[in-house]
Formats: sequence, structure tokens, C-alpha cells
Amino acid sequence: MFEKTHRFMMLEELGHGHRGTVLKLQHISTGKIVAAKIVPVDANLRERKRLLGEVQSMQDYTSPYITTSYDRAHLGAPTIYLDTKHTKILSHLNHDTNICIYMEFMDKRSFAEITRRVGAITKDIVGKVAVAVLEGLKYLHDKHRILHRDIKPSNILLNSSGDIKLCDFGISGELNSLTGTFAGTSLYMSPDRIMGGASSNKSDVWSLGITLLELCIGRFPYDIEAEKEEKESQLDVPADGDDEWESIDPPLDGGRVTTSILALLNRIVEGPAPVAGASGSGFGFALVMEGGAEEFINACLEKDVEARRTLGELLGHAWVLSSRDSGVDVKAWAATI
Ligand code: ADP
Ligand code: MG
Repeated sequence: MFEKTHRFMMLEELGHGHRGTVLKLQHISTGKIVAAKIVPVDANLRERKRLLGEVQSMQDYTSPYITTSYDRAHLGAPTIYLDTKHTKILSHLNHDTNICIYMEFMDKRSFAEITRRVGAITKDIVGKVAVAVLEGLKYLHDKHRILHRDIKPSNILLNSSGDIKLCDFGISGELNSLTGTFAGTSLYMSPDRIMGGASSNKSDVWSLGITLLELCIGRFPYDIEAEKEEKESQLDVPADGDDEWESIDPPLDGGRVTTSILALLNRIVEGPAPVAGASGSGFGFALVMEGGAEEFINACLEKDVEARRTLGELLGHAWVLSSRDSGVDVKAWAATI
């Protein structure tokens, strides 16, 4: 789509994750706004060619529930980034070792930013998020034979047309976890995956459960602060923060980060799962959610991977069926946030 020139104006940095940065860019000759994920990759030529081939193949991913990617090959090389005054060339972005993934810009950003801004989200909208994520996962699984592996609020995007789409699947997700001791570790990971078990779509189902519960209550369900304090009183660990953990999702601030993450991972594996709507149990969240929403979230948060329901089973869940048909206007809601 960008045959003629390859000049982009950099409008804004949208965020950065464990690896790489996401920029909002404008293609100068067409005026098109895009998002670009730029990931430094320390790899040999052969490996880089493989990665670029995979980036190119991402344009074959076409689903209303998946962010559209644009073909890097159409851009040609070199790509030039200008600042807003059209003067400075941001040469560090052109560095040979970057891999860029150009994709559609989702102007309402991710559900991580949305909950940070507006807090808990109403059940009707969360139902639409559940439908979109399940459909996106089904599409990836049925058409491309891949799992997502990194379902979390920051990888679920919204635009002002009311579309809800997944990003960071396939190579984009793979790039996130290329290097680093704990790279690719996320607190949204299922107990079975933390333990190194075989991945299946049931690991994505767990991550969906944690994500939906977070959207309903407006915060990450596990209590990070309590975990930190409890472990810090027991363990003597160095106070320096470890870069590896800086952008773990959800973010943890300050020193002793490694300890609290390890403690949390341990808690996810050993402790009870969070429960939507339970009364009395120490780790329940009293939510008023009719129509099977609580039952759906709790089905995702089944710790025993054998007993946890599959993607296919959950697509037929009563709450999913009613959310799919519900007349809730996501576009109108998006205009309010
Ligand atoms: P993470 O997902 O771990 O937060 P990323 O580097 O994948 O880190 O993304 C950083 C941020 O960039 C995300 O939180 C999201 O808000 C934003 N972002 C990513 N892709 C897009 C896109 N296509 N449109 C708009 N914002 C995006
Ligand atoms: Mg992401």
C-alpha cells in the first residue's frame, strides 16, 4: 500500500513493552496513519530473513478480530522517519537491526490504557471483549494453527468504530520473547504454562479469564503489593530493580521486583485461582453480573488444565451467545472514553 515513498512522520510514541517500541506514524505521501512496532533484533542475516518473511506473512491474517498488518516489502528500503517539523531524521529508528511491523492504528488504544483511565468496565462491554477475543483466538487457531500466548489487556485494542481486535500474535509475539532471562513471562500466564507444560488453547483461555476479571474490577486480580510486602519481610534480596522486569505486565514499580514477580508466579501456581462473584472466599470478587458472566470467567480460571474448558466449548457458552447478540453499542461507548 505504500508503493511510492517510504517517508513517515513520527507523531507519537504509543508505548513500549518488554522489547521494542510502538510508534504512531503518518505516511507522508498518502497521509495514512499507522502504528509501527519497532523491535531491535540481534540476529544473523539468515535469521533476520526468516523473521522478515514472517513479518511479511502477517498480512495474510485477515479477520475483523485481528489488527491488520501491512507488508514491509511494499515499503521498500530505506524507510525514513521525520519528526513533526519534517526536519530531523530519526536515524536510530532506521538502524539495520530493527524489525518493523506496520499495522492499523487503533485510535482508542488498548484495554490496559482504557482501564487505567476509566477504571472498571461495564459487563456488557466486557461481554463484547470476550466475544472478540474468542473469535480472534479461533481464527488464529483454525486458519493459521497458532496459539496467541500473550492474551492480556494491552494486547486487546479498540478503535472509535467500536472494533475490538487482538494484536501481538505470531511473529509480533515471538519477537517479544526472543531474549532475556524472563522474557516472554507474563503474569497473565496460566499455572500450567508457568510450570512449563505443553501450551494449548487452554493456556490462552486462562489468560482471557484473568483479563476479563481485570476489566470487570478495574485492576489486576492478584494483589501485587501484598505479595511484595509479605515476601520482602521473609527474604533478604538486593534492592536494585532488574531491567528484565521493567515492563512486565502489569507493571511493578521500584526495587525487589524480581522477588515479587517470582512470588507471584509461585502464588499463581500454588494458590487458589481468583474467583468472580464468590462471597466469603478470601480471593473472590463480589461482582453483580447476571447472565452467566461470572460462570464464564470462573470456567476460564479453572486451575486444572484437564478440567478447564476448551476454546470451542467456551464459544458455545450462554454468556458468549447472549453477548454476541446483545445490542450494546461499543461505538457509542468508545466515544465516551
Ligand atoms: P505491551 O503490549 O506489553 O504493553 P507493546 O510494545 O506490545 O507492549 O505495546 C505498547 C503499547 O502500544 C500498548 O500498550 C498499546 O497501547 C500500544 N499499541 C500497540 N499496537 C497498537 C496499535 N496497532 N494501535 C494503537 N496502539 C497500539
Ligand atoms: Mg503488546
